[in-house]
Amino acid sequence: MGATNLNPGGGNSGAPREPHEERENSSATAGLMPDNPIAAILDVIGRGERFLVCSHSRPDGDAVGSVLAMGMLLEAMGKRADLFTADRIPAVYRALPGAEAISCVMRVHGRYDAAILLECDSLDRTRLRGLQPFYLVNIDHHATGRAFAQLNWIDRDAASVGELVYRLIKAARVHLSPAMAQCLYTTILTDTGSFRYGATRASTFALAAELARAGADPVRIAREIYFSTAMSKLLLLGAALTTLTREGRLAWLSVSHQDMVRTCAAEEDSEGIVDYAISLAGVEAAVFLRELPEGRIRASLRSKGRVDVASLAVAMGGGGHENAAGITLDGPLHRALEEVLAQLRPAVEEISSPPTQGKDPRV
Ligand code: 5GP
Ligand code: MN
Repeated sequence: MGATNLNPGGGNSGAPREPHEERENSSATAGLMPDNPIAAILDVIGRGERFLVCSHSRPDGDAVGSVLAMGMLLEAMGKRADLFTADRIPAVYRALPGAEAISCVMRVHGRYDAAILLECDSLDRTRLRGLQPFYLVNIDHHATGRAFAQLNWIDRDAASVGELVYRLIKAARVHLSPAMAQCLYTTILTDTGSFRYGATRASTFALAAELARAGADPVRIAREIYFSTAMSKLLLLGAALTTLTREGRLAWLSVSHQDMVRTCAAEEDSEGIVDYAISLAGVEAAVFLRELPEGRIRASLRSKGRVDVASLAVAMGGGGHENAAGITLDGPLHRALEEVLAQLRPAVEEISSPPTQGKDPRV
């Protein structure tokens, strides 16, 4: 159906848009946020045949699990789904059902009735080129989520985007298969930090229980994710811990590109290192910096709930959740660190009240 107008609200023309793949989408291009986003999205799916599904670059458990489950939903509805990410799937998620069907590409081609973006606040966040002409559906749960697509569903209370895909599956009255359940359970487990964070609610366990009943295997998933660590990851952690620095309620640590090379680390080996800094007693905000091969710096920010790291990340061109956010900054490493600390120090100094309960560092 190619150029058919899929917009359930009628506000946008269905005609392909000018391709501007490299341009950042701003909130000025904000699209439709319908009152009933589930019905609107199912309507778009119902009227199309071919769909592209993708998520953010450097995909995490929520990105991989929700892309896979979304693909399974589309197939169960008799549609064709092509799944893409710009970066390869981390080894710990490669055993998920259907993971081999995700294509790792730089540019997408072809005709699709809509492109469904999960966990992204912009086209740039996918790091995929060629998405611009498509009718875009944005499904997200980040505090910094933006209505950049023609059709947007942003639910900041959801524990994972997988939880939103689950709601689509239920509303579509599609059978929740063991494979879907395996993928969706992974999104919840990883985005709640293994049910550790403050806002892990009774409803989170209720959903996890339903997914386990539908065929998710919590023990197997835990083994794949938490008991399958590569040696390079622990060696990289060792290098990072030698840089661990504490300044009152702040802590930080970093790895250079040289550390990555020396320990034979893959990008995914840096995931979770920031957790060691934020785990320190008395620390309220933490940063992990990693030097990229080209010299730019990836920063991971974490908070225990009294500092909103999402808004600090947005101020520096990144995004995320109140308690877990990220940014890419210019190097060198020491300058990027100073830039982040210049934002964090005043935010941490503002803390005067006793600790609040109930915030959660979802990722
Ligand atoms: P991490 O530190 O684990 O890479 O990311 C923490 C959280 O922040 C995740 O929810 C991730 O999606 C989000 N995040 C990380 N980097 C960026 C970024 O550059 N832009 C945006 N919008 N979100 C980010
Ligand atoms: Mn997520």
